[in-house]
Amino acid sequence: MKAIKVIKPFEVEIVEVEKPKIEKSTDVIVKITSGGICGSDMQIYNGTNSLATYPRIIGHEFGGIVVEVGEKVTSVKIGDKVAVDPVVSCGECYACKIGRHNVCSTLEVMGVHRDGGFSEFVKADEKNIHKFHTDFDESLLGLVEPYTIGMQINNRLQTTSKDKILIMGAGPIGIAALQVAKSRDAKVIITDIVKERLNKAKDMGADETVLVTEEDLKERLGKFTDGEGIPVIIDTVCTPSSFEESVQLACPAGRIVVIGLKNQPSNITMADITKKELTIVGSRLNCNCFDQVIEQFEKGKLNPEKLMTKAYNYKDIIEALTMIKEHPQDVLKVVLKFED
Ligand code: MN
Repeated sequence: MKAIKVIKPFEVEIVEVEKPKIEKSTDVIVKITSGGICGSDMQIYNGTNSLATYPRIIGHEFGGIVVEVGEKVTSVKIGDKVAVDPVVSCGECYACKIGRHNVCSTLEVMGVHRDGGFSEFVKADEKNIHKFHTDFDESLLGLVEPYTIGMQINNRLQTTSKDKILIMGAGPIGIAALQVAKSRDAKVIITDIVKERLNKAKDMGADETVLVTEEDLKERLGKFTDGEGIPVIIDTVCTPSSFEESVQLACPAGRIVVIGLKNQPSNITMADITKKELTIVGSRLNCNCFDQVIEQFEKGKLNPEKLMTKAYNYKDIIEALTMIKEHPQDVLKVVLKFED
């Protein structure tokens, strides 16, 4: 079968690899129909992903149709449309035992730490396979994973309809978090430095948008909250200064979610956190969010087709990567279709 392999930074090839076989009784083999290209795939390609090793079959956003199952598999059958959770955990460590396997002490993500989903067939354990109950558009099956990131963020924040939320950054994660927050009837104000992205965010339900290169965010937040200050912040910009800004902007008793993986420190004092008794939480990957997202896709509460900027055949991976590299501001999600 064919797969997309990054041999080393800036060298990507369609390679011929062995098709996976059922080995364990809980194995499932999926014929991939759709994959989403993520910023972290771009980083693996660019050589800037600190977690990845080479050579690597990339792709952690993928889904398709079940073609083979091990003898003990009961939750899916041949022909089911599914999305595959790329999070692989041990089940034994503290985090796993308390039900937070997405931060397993020996966590591996398919497409990052081990081979991923940009290939014609993928094998995964039954527990990583999540099925659709309707005849969903095959090209969108790979977009469950990016929405699980938005779902996890909102789960960590315990977003409800009472919340007013600032989302910093209207990239794919900001937009996915926005859609999930709106599906819970929260009020959302979202920022970016690119006007087109904000137009897109508006189209996806943002109550207000702020072009931070031209407008005063603090002033807009004042109006948005009747002078109260913003109680909930989702920082998808993920720079040391955006974290500082979140802590400054949050109102007393505010909640902030952090998703960045950069190692540079931010200048935040204990007093900044204590005085306002802020709740600052991390959000990584997803913890059992696949079924939640699939349900919302099927109900039409989340609209993945709006996240998709363009689709390419997987054999045109270089063209797809080049497009993302050259037009980062125009791209939310590029989808690869695995068909001949
Ligand atoms: Mn991703």
